[in-house]
Amino acid sequence: MNQPQQKQRIVIVGGGSTGWIAAAALGRQLKGEQYEVTLVESSQIGTIGVGEAVIPPFLNFIRGLGLNEQQFIQETQASFKLGIQFRDWAQRDHSYFHHFGALGRKLDGHDFLQCWLKARTLGDTADLMDYAPAAEMAKQGKFFLPFKMPQESPLAEAAYALHFDASLVAKSLRKFAESRGVRRVDAKVNGVELDADGNIGALQLDGERRLEGDFFLDCSGFRALLIEGELGSEYEDWREFLPCDRAVALQTSGLEDVTPYTISTARDAGWTWRIPLQHRIGNGYVFASDHCSDDEAIATLLRSVEGEPLHEPRVIPFRTGMRPQFWQKNCVALGLAGGFLEPLESTAIHLVTRGVQFLLELFPHDVTNASSWQQLALDYNARMRMDYEEIRDFIILHYCATRRDDTPFWRQCQNLPLPESLRQKIALFRERGEVRIGGDDLFKVPSWQAVFTGMGVMPEHYHPFVDMSDFAQLHMAMRGGRAQLAEEVATLPSHAEFLRAHCPAE
Ligand code: FAD
Repeated sequence: MNQPQQKQRIVIVGGGSTGWIAAAALGRQLKGEQYEVTLVESSQIGTIGVGEAVIPPFLNFIRGLGLNEQQFIQETQASFKLGIQFRDWAQRDHSYFHHFGALGRKLDGHDFLQCWLKARTLGDTADLMDYAPAAEMAKQGKFFLPFKMPQESPLAEAAYALHFDASLVAKSLRKFAESRGVRRVDAKVNGVELDADGNIGALQLDGERRLEGDFFLDCSGFRALLIEGELGSEYEDWREFLPCDRAVALQTSGLEDVTPYTISTARDAGWTWRIPLQHRIGNGYVFASDHCSDDEAIATLLRSVEGEPLHEPRVIPFRTGMRPQFWQKNCVALGLAGGFLEPLESTAIHLVTRGVQFLLELFPHDVTNASSWQQLALDYNARMRMDYEEIRDFIILHYCATRRDDTPFWRQCQNLPLPESLRQKIALFRERGEVRIGGDDLFKVPSWQAVFTGMGVMPEHYHPFVDMSDFAQLHMAMRGGRAQLAEEVATLPSHAEFLRAHCPAE
């Protein structure tokens, strides 16, 4: 098979987090002798300006680029995130934690959850999260890097992610991408030229400029300039499963005490987020317009925030769902242009990195030749759908398992239609606490266990084999492990101390 003779031209439209994540990854991977990567963004239009919490795999992406994590944290005014505290979701005045990383250790070969379930039948009231290292750190407001802990310590099994300033992330990734040869053009795309086969051939830019390309990445945000505006790609709407369709966002001045976790609080018609950075707090209210006006949402948000507002509240409409064809013709839609799931589990930026990862794995031999990628595009679209559906189901679980019936919104949530995939997961968990996931799923078993039990979905039985062990001994090991975890966490620096010592904002 011959290599194409000419340089292959990749054009990225959009310079939000998505565009620069894609540019950084392509810049790292593609050699300048064979590929030319250009990113077009319009400083007049700007970016969406939200998206400030991520999940642990994002750090793998940063490390994969070869960036220094500590420096990245300093540059982006980031704080550490050990999970999410969910307030008032299962019912009012109740909270639970979805942690990152491990949750207990196997005991005598039994899954930890099964032992915990048996302990409960004997009257043990310890919370499942008392056995999760990240949750314990969050509870005590402490932080230390798990990979620097001795291997035998339970803290080595915690995991963490970040809260960061999205505009500073784009800036940092831009610096990296440009240093790897990515060319940036500041221009507004005013038109698109298609060739005879319906593939994109060139972009018309303002100032009478024209930019030709062989392969295009649509990172233009909700505008979906190429994939929808030009190629007419369909959108699969998931509002029947997830009724929220708007958000109002507001940044406020920061506090001394930066919690190492996101707080998500259920409200009358949705939920609010609180994301603490080193220099300010990101806040927002995700709500269903069928149950709440913009003015009511703004008033609710203003009542709930701490610190001084740094700007006027911004209302952002959105449409939950995805494009069945993320990859259509010679164009791949990434980020908001490809689909959207509300930010309850901070998964949007992760889906961008997954989209980029799949694209690199399936990269066509010759991007100028459509016949070289038809099968690849089918596979790409199938992979992305699996990721979107998995995350969609996980998010729906937070709503459908609620016992709240105090507002029309929560009553609607109790009666949401459920995707069959989720219905089966719930039934399996209710029966025996089992969770079946795919090998490549984002949310692993401990995450499902945390949300199921946090929302009050309790299994009817535990595994019968637990009864074959000497449970008095297992129970003692559980109690000992819990005490040891709490004691070890108590010796760690506070999150604020750790930030000050290791990664103060620049
Ligand atoms: P944008 O930021 O909108 O960027 C689009 C780019 O396209 C811009 O550079 C713009 O200038 C350019 N552009 C558009 N039209 C043109 C044109 N005609 N010519 C030239 N350039 C053009 N994600 C998370 O992971 N965690 C979160 O906590 C989180 N919270 C969120 C909260 C809300 C309310 C919303 C709506 C989203 C949230 N997200 C979150 C998602 C996250 O914001 C996005 O995934 C991320 O910001 C990437 O956006 P984007 O780059 O795709 O789009």
